Amino acid sequence: MKLRIVVDPDLCIGAASCVTIAPETFQMNMENKAEVIDHGIADGGPSYERVLEVNEEEKDTIILGAQSCPTLAITIFDESGLQLYPTI
Ligand code: SF4
Repeated sequence: MKLRIVVDPDLCIGAASCVTIAPETFQMNMENKAEVIDHGIADGGPSYERVLEVNEEEKDTIILGAQSCPTLAITIFDESGLQLYPTI
């Protein structure tokens, strides 16, 4: 399945819990903001938003990472555009 993952750099306070939980999907940049990477690779350069092909286990890990964010800076959508997290 595909997920679209978006980090809002204005909300990110650099707590890095997303990186601790999902290091294949999030990494800190020079500005101490989390960027989205694809299975450990920043293909096409740094980005706060990426569409990733993931399996069920990877999806769960990414959602756990997003849930760990104290400022709700991470939003996750499925391939139909439905927002999976935060739930609305
Ligand atoms: S957990 Fe949230 S605040 Fe912390 S680095 Fe990740 S996106 Fe930023």
